[in-house]
Amino acid sequence: MSAIKRARKQATPVRLRVLRFRLRLGPTQAARCDFLRREAARVWNRCVELDRAWREAGLKLTAWALEKQLKAATARKAGGDFELAANTTQAVVEAYVEAVERFRRRQGAAERPPHRQKAHFTVAWKAREIQPQGNRVALACGRGRQPLVIPAFGLPWERVRQVQLVYRHGDYWLHVTLAEPAPSQRAGDSAGRAAGGDQGEVHALTLSTGDRHLVLVGRRLRSEWRLWHKVLARLQALQSRCQKGSRRWRKLQAAKERRLGRILRRIEHLECCIARHAVAWCLAHGVSTLYVGDLGGIERRAQGRRHRQRMHFWRRARLLRRLRQLAARHGITVVVIPERGTSRTCPACGAQHKPRGRVFACPNGHTAHRDVVGAVNILALGLWGELLPGRPLPREQETTYLRPDRQKAALAA
Ligand SMILES: [Zn+2]
Repeated sequence: MSAIKRARKQATPVRLRVLRFRLRLGPTQAARCDFLRREAARVWNRCVELDRAWREAGLKLTAWALEKQLKAATARKAGGDFELAANTTQAVVEAYVEAVERFRRRQGAAERPPHRQKAHFTVAWKAREIQPQGNRVALACGRGRQPLVIPAFGLPWERVRQVQLVYRHGDYWLHVTLAEPAPSQRAGDSAGRAAGGDQGEVHALTLSTGDRHLVLVGRRLRSEWRLWHKVLARLQALQSRCQKGSRRWRKLQAAKERRLGRILRRIEHLECCIARHAVAWCLAHGVSTLYVGDLGGIERRAQGRRHRQRMHFWRRARLLRRLRQLAARHGITVVVIPERGTSRTCPACGAQHKPRGRVFACPNGHTAHRDVVGAVNILALGLWGELLPGRPLPREQETTYLRPDRQKAALAA
C-alpha cells in the first residue's frame, strides 16, 4: 500500500498537499537524477516481465499477493541489483500494482495490462529515506551509496510523507507530499456568507457578495494563453511538413514541449495568483460558500466540434480546480452551478439584455459592470435557485490588476 493510501486511512484526519519545486541542477546532479529515473524504470520493466511470466504460467494473483511477490522478487536479497533504496524500489512496485488494479477494474475490449517498457520512471522516497541536513536534504539511495542531496526549500520536513523526482518540460521537479492537519469544521462556519463568482476571458474572475464586489483582471493570463496557442500552431505547422518520427520532427517535438512548458508554467503561476487573491478576499469578507458559474447545457455539447471551444473549457476548468483546492484549504466551499442567463439578466428589473462592451446597460436604464452583474446573478442562482429581480444594482467594485509578485502578500494568513 502506498504512503498516500495509508495516510488517507489514518484515524486523525490529515490533509495531504503536494508542493512542486523546480530543481536547478548542475550537469553532474542532472546526470545522477537521470540515472535514478532509469533505475526506477528498470524496476518497472522487471515488474512487467515477472507479471507477464506469471500470467502466462497460469498464476492468478490477487493485487495483494502480486504486490508481495513482486516486492520479494525485486528486493536486494533476491538479487535485485537496482541502485535505489529498498523503499524506493517498493514504491515502484506499488505504482505498478496500482496500474494493474486500474486495468482490472475497467477491463474492456481494448484494454491490456501494463506492458510497455519504460526508459524513465518517477523516483519516490518515503519519509524514512529523507534526511534533512540544515538547508539541504539527503535522499537515501540504498546502503553504501551516495544519497541525492537537494535544497530543503524551507519546508517542515518532519511532516513530509513522500518526495518524488519528476521530469517535466525539460526540467527536474520535486513533488513533495506534505501532511497537514485537516481543517476542523469551526462553529459558525456554515453561517458564513455566500458569494458568487463569474469566470471570464478579460476579467479572469469576478466575485460578489451582493454588496461588495471584486474584479480580478486577467489580461495577462489571456495574453499568455494567446502566446501558448501561437507557439503551438507555429511548431505544429512546421511539424506537419516533415515525416512523423523523423529527426527533424523529433527536434520540433522537443522544442514544442520545452517552449509550451515554459509558458504553461507562467500560466500556472498566474492562475495561482488569481486563486490566492480570490480566497484572500473571501476570507476578508467572511465568505464560507462560493458559487461559481459553469458553462452547462448546449455549450458543453459543442465541445467536440470546435477545437477553440474545447481549449476554452479546458482553461476555465484549470483555474476552477486551482480555486477549489485553495479554497478548501481555507475552509471555503466552492459550489459549481450552471450559469445560464446570468450574463444577460438585469438583477434590478429582470429585463434581458446582451451586453456588447464591458458595461451592462439594461433597457430600463440600469447600468453596471458587466462581469459584476454576472457574479451577482450567479450568487442569486446559488442562494435561491432562480434569478429574482429587485436586487440593488452594483454601483462600485474593487478592481485588482494581477501582479504576480504580490501573490504572497495577498494571502499571508
Ligand atoms: Zn434593469
